[in-house]
Amino acid sequence: MVYVMQGASNEKKEKQSIEGQLLGAITRAQSQFVQSRDARVVFDGMLDALLTLTDSEYGFIGEVFYEEDGTPFLKTHAITNIAWNEETQRLYDENAEQGLEFRNMDTLFGNVIVTGEVVIANKPAEDRRRGGVPRGHPPLNAFLGLPFFHRDKLIGMVGIANRAAGYDQLLVDSLQPFLTTCTNIILGVRAQKSQAAVQKSLSESEARGRAILDNAIDAIITIDQTGRIESCNRAAGQIFGYGTNELVSMNVSSLMPREHGDQHDKYLQSFLRSGRGKIIGVGRELTACRRDGEEFPIELTVNEIKLEGRQLFVGMLRDISDRKANEAQRSQLTEELTKRVDELNRLNEENALLSALGSYLQACVSKEEAYDVLLAHVRVLFANESGALYSLSEAANAECVLSWGAEKDLLSHPVQKQDCWAMRRGVVHETSDASAALRCRHYNGIGAGDQFCIPVMTQNGPIGLLTLHVPASDEGEKPALQVAHNLSLMSGIADRLGPALSGIELRDRLHEDSIRDPLTKLYNRRFMDESLHRELLRAGRSNSPVSLIMVDLDKFKAINDEYGHDVGDEVLTVVAQHLGRAIREEDIVYRFGGEEFVIVLPGASLDVARERAQEACRAIRALRIETDKGPLHITLSAGVATFPEHGANQEQLIVQADRALYLAKQSGRDRIELATVAEVS
Ligand code: GH3
Ligand code: MG
Ligand code: MG
Repeated sequence: MVYVMQGASNEKKEKQSIEGQLLGAITRAQSQFVQSRDARVVFDGMLDALLTLTDSEYGFIGEVFYEEDGTPFLKTHAITNIAWNEETQRLYDENAEQGLEFRNMDTLFGNVIVTGEVVIANKPAEDRRRGGVPRGHPPLNAFLGLPFFHRDKLIGMVGIANRAAGYDQLLVDSLQPFLTTCTNIILGVRAQKSQAAVQKSLSESEARGRAILDNAIDAIITIDQTGRIESCNRAAGQIFGYGTNELVSMNVSSLMPREHGDQHDKYLQSFLRSGRGKIIGVGRELTACRRDGEEFPIELTVNEIKLEGRQLFVGMLRDISDRKANEAQRSQLTEELTKRVDELNRLNEENALLSALGSYLQACVSKEEAYDVLLAHVRVLFANESGALYSLSEAANAECVLSWGAEKDLLSHPVQKQDCWAMRRGVVHETSDASAALRCRHYNGIGAGDQFCIPVMTQNGPIGLLTLHVPASDEGEKPALQVAHNLSLMSGIADRLGPALSGIELRDRLHEDSIRDPLTKLYNRRFMDESLHRELLRAGRSNSPVSLIMVDLDKFKAINDEYGHDVGDEVLTVVAQHLGRAIREEDIVYRFGGEEFVIVLPGASLDVARERAQEACRAIRALRIETDKGPLHITLSAGVATFPEHGANQEQLIVQADRALYLAKQSGRDRIELATVAEVS
C-alpha cells in the first residue's frame, strides 16, 4: 500500500519517506520469499530494514500461536541478538534459528497479544503494562508493539525498541504495509507447512498402501483395457512364479490356462463395449496358470476403477489350492462319516430287528407261529439273500420248515446229513466261491455266492439248521467285514431261535404230559373235560350231534387178581389201541379212569354211535391176549348218549351214558345200552 498525498506536511513527508523505503524492503522480502521459501531469511531481512527505517535499536517479528486451552504464546521468526551474557547468548544461538518462544504475557509485548492493540510505550519504566525486563537486559527506553491480523484473528506481532525520538501514531500508520507483508509471509509459511504436512501424509499413506499391498496374501493386479498388467504386488509374483517386475506389461491372459485366456480377451472387449459382462465380479472361483504351467484354483474379485481418466481393472485373487484340497478332504470325510452313520443306523436297525425277533419268538406258542415270525424278520434282514430253516429229527435228514428269497424253492428240499458240513460237524460252516471245494452239496443248483450253514442249538444239542445264500455281486468278492457281519447276524438269529424252539417243544411236551395218560397214551379225563366242552359249544352253534360212548371193562378186578397188575396194565394198553382202531379219525378215545374209557364222536348221531359201540364191543371180545398163564379174553360193557337229545351239557351226557352203561352191566355185561330220551329231565 502506497500513500500519495497532496500538500503533505513534514510529518507526512517523513511518513512517505519511511513508506518508500519500506516498500523497497517489502518488495525485496517478498521476492526473496518467492525465491527461497525460507521465512527465516526473509524475516531477518525485514527486521533489519524495519530497525534501520524506524531508527530502533532492537526488535523482533513473531508469530502468535495458541495452546489447546486457547492461551497464546509468541514464537519469533526474527529477533535481534541482544544477549547480555553467556547464558543468553547460548539461548539465542540454540533457539533463534527455529524461533524463541515467549509465554509471559504480563509484558509490553504480551499486552499487544492479549489485547490485540498497538502498544506505544515511550516511558516503559513508568508504564503500567510493563512486566519488567530481566537483569542485564539492555535498557528499554521506548517500545512499540504492533499486532497483525488475518481475518480478524491475531496471527503475529512486531516489537521494536529504543527509537531515540520515541514512537508515535504516525509511525504506526506508516508501518501498516509492513504488517500486511508480515501477515502474508506468515500465511505463506503456514500454507507451506500444511502443504508439507499434506505431502508427508500423502507419501506416508502411499508407503502404507504400498506396504499393505506388498504384504497382502492376495495377489493384487491392475490391468488396463487391453489386459496389460499395469502394476501388481509381491504376492502376485509369488503366486504365479514371476518376479514382481516381470509381471508388469505382461498380458493378464498369460496367467490363465490357454482356453480361459482367449475367453478373457473376449470378455474384456465385450465389457468395454457394453459395460456388462463377466469381467467384474466378487469371489468367483476360476482356474489360473503358474509360470511352470501348473494350473491351480483361485478365487477372483475384479473391480473397475477410473484413474486419471483411464479405465482400469483391479483384480484381487487368492490361491485356494489348499482350501480346495481341504474341501475335497472334508467332503471325503463327510462321505465316510455318512457311510459310517448309515452303517451304524443299519446295525442299529438290525439289532432292533434281532431283539424284536427274540421277543416275538419268546411269545410264540407253537413252532408254526415261530416259523412265521422268523420268516417275517429274515425277509427284512436278508431282503436280497435266500435262506431256509430245517428241522432236525431223529432221521438223517432235515426237513425244510421255511425258506425265502430267489432260491427259496431249491432250498426247500430236505437236507441229507451227509450233504451238509455243518450237520456233520455240528459247527457253523461257511463257504465262498474261493473255497468252493467245501461247499455243501445241498446248495447244488444254486448260483455262485457265499453260503452259511448254522446249526440251531439247544441245551440238548442241535434241533435245526439255518442256511443263508448271499448271491455273488458284480462288485466282486464281498468285503470280509460284510461276510463276518452276515455270519454274526445269522448266528444272532440262530441263538434266539434255538431256545425259543426248544421252549416250545418243552411246553408241548409238558402239555402232552398233562393231557395224556402215561400208560395207554390216550388223552386223559382232564383233557376230555376241556375238549368235550368246546366240542359241545361248536355242535350247538352248528346244530350237529355229538355222541359219547362210556366203556367199562367187565370183571377187570378179577384179571388183576388172577394175572397180576402188570398183565392188567398190558390189557388196558391193548384195549386202548383197539378202541382207537374201531373209530373214525375225528373220534377221540379218552381214558376216563381205571378200566373206563370214553369215546367222543363229533357229528355222530345216536345210531352211528351205537354201531361204533357195537363194533368196539365185538373187537374187544375177539381179542386174544397171550399171557404166561395162557390166552386171556376180555369183554366190555358200554353206554351211549347223544347231544343234544340226552343232555345239553357234558355233565348230563356223562350221567346219561353212565346210566346206560350201568344198565348194560345189569343186563349181563359184554353189551351196549343206549340212553333214553325219557330220562332227560
Ligand atoms: P365190573 O364188571 O362190575 O366192572 O367189575 P370190575 O371188576 O371191573 O369192577 P371194579 O370197578 O370194582 O374193578 C375195577 C378194577 O380195575 C379195580 C382196580 O384194581 C382195577 N384197575 C383200575 N385201574 C387199573 C390200572 O391202571 N391197572 C390195573 N392193573 N388195574 C386197574
Ligand atoms: Mg369200573
Ligand atoms: Mg369194570
